[in-house]
Amino acid sequence: MANGFFNVPKALNEAIKTYAPNTTERAAVLKQYKEYYTNFTDIPFYIGSEEIRTENTRTISPPHDHKHAIGKYHLAEKKHVSEAISNTLEARDSWANLPWEQRAAIFLKAADLIAGPYRAKINAATMLAQSKTIHQAEIDAACEFIDFLRFNVEFMSEIYQQQPESGDGIWNRVEYRPLEGFIYAITPFNFTAIAGNLPASAAMMGNVVLWKPSDSQIFSAKVIIDIFKEAGLPDGVINIVYGDPIMITETALSSPDFAGLHFTGSTFVFKELWKQIGNNIHTYKTYPKIVGETGGKDFIIAHSSAFPKQVATAITRGAFEFQGQKCSAASRVYLPKSSANEIIALVKKDIASFNKPGSPEDMSNFITAVIHEQSFDKLVTYIEQAKKDTNAEIIAGGNYDKSIGYFIEPTVIITTDPKYTTMETELFGPIVTIYIYEDKDWSKTLKLVDSTSEYALTGAVIAKERYAINEATIALQNSAGNFYINDKPTGAVVGQQPFGGARASGTNDKAGSAQNLLRWVSPRLIKEVFVSPEDYRYPFLG
Ligand code: NAD
Repeated sequence: MANGFFNVPKALNEAIKTYAPNTTERAAVLKQYKEYYTNFTDIPFYIGSEEIRTENTRTISPPHDHKHAIGKYHLAEKKHVSEAISNTLEARDSWANLPWEQRAAIFLKAADLIAGPYRAKINAATMLAQSKTIHQAEIDAACEFIDFLRFNVEFMSEIYQQQPESGDGIWNRVEYRPLEGFIYAITPFNFTAIAGNLPASAAMMGNVVLWKPSDSQIFSAKVIIDIFKEAGLPDGVINIVYGDPIMITETALSSPDFAGLHFTGSTFVFKELWKQIGNNIHTYKTYPKIVGETGGKDFIIAHSSAFPKQVATAITRGAFEFQGQKCSAASRVYLPKSSANEIIALVKKDIASFNKPGSPEDMSNFITAVIHEQSFDKLVTYIEQAKKDTNAEIIAGGNYDKSIGYFIEPTVIITTDPKYTTMETELFGPIVTIYIYEDKDWSKTLKLVDSTSEYALTGAVIAKERYAINEATIALQNSAGNFYINDKPTGAVVGQQPFGGARASGTNDKAGSAQNLLRWVSPRLIKEVFVSPEDYRYPFLG
């Protein structure tokens, strides 16, 4: 036990490197990219101190170059998942009893390893395996991940400092115990930072974790594991398995020691998991905590007082960066008739200035590939349908090619039906749909924005007129968990814009905030009386 109340280093957002031509960071990341591209990485799964390889493997290929293999990963069977759970539970006592500052030091060290020696590795792996441009990789895999680790350490120490009052003769104290059991972390493909943060945030609070990453993110997940190991995370605190998500999940959720789910991914999957947990509720030793950040159908609504160039830039950046594969990506846009033509012309000009979708290794590319063939085929179906529908028109893009990579051109659809399918459904690709409203229908359109989709993740209002901004802020109070005024609806920064949505977009436990960390503890109140009473009679008894 520590003899001191320690202050943690002040968390500051990691500065984003530019990767401009002739910079050392650009040379380093391209060198690492080539190395990963030409070597073949064999990725085991990890249980305790063991690296496990099985006969059953899957090849990993870059989405932008899918005929080329960069590695393979080994699939776990049910017995391995059970072993991973028993092993993590064996690690629990030592980890839960380690003083918090020792746990903090491990994750602060991990942050510094990412900021320094692992920066090129984690960025290159994310560029290759998830087809991110260097800028998208840098703001995710390096900066956001570093921020999650450093800010969470600060939030953890703030939580521990929250203590109750004590009356005369007594001392009340709260200890923030980790949950009794293990946390199951299921992570998505689209953010390396989220993949690392979901297991790490629970582990930081003293929990042990079974982590199942997305099949499409295992290449960069391997770098995360290497970093945690080098930072000194004890064996078994985070065990990682890959394979059939249904089998792994059924095994995890049927364990009596399952104590919490930390999920990010699609809404349908999360609802199914919630149902499974409900069905198993009599099995568990404790009520599991369920945290899930899920889908979005994120909007931009522009007012007639908005500057057209600002609206166009918010659309171009908000809808197309990382091929629209951000949960926060703008995918439905409402434009006033008076400025719609001008805004649309500017968006088309932006799109015309992009290179054709290509490899992130060519740093002049703004758009690369979508994550896999299933996603490509789904997006093509919507594009082809829009070409046929009389209430929709494709005014930019609409072409695609999967011969080398899963490339889809940034596509803009204009619809006359505000409830058209692509205004309501999360597509998760570089497709944005625009609905043009009459200027006089501003208030009516706000109601439409609020009632159009099941989601409530992010949204933006763009206007110069303050009355309009105020009206939108009130009318859209429940339409987005992250609401932006005069900005695109993407790009939340840890410590500045805690992230999460409501309605079908998730439990809104705000990743990158103390609120999220509080889900991974079970406080114990300790009341100590210094001089205990020796007579049961109260004075009123006379
Ligand atoms: P996904 O739901 O397909 O997969 C997410 C994870 O769930 C993966 O690890 C996957 O293997 C696993 N999974 C899939 N089916 C499963 C099943 N039946 N049982 C158990 N696990 C299962 O999502 P994705 O394609 O990886 O990511 C995109 C989705 O994630 C989008 O809907 C996006 O909006 C959402 N997302 C949300 C946020 C947020 O903060 N709200 C952030 C990132 C991504």
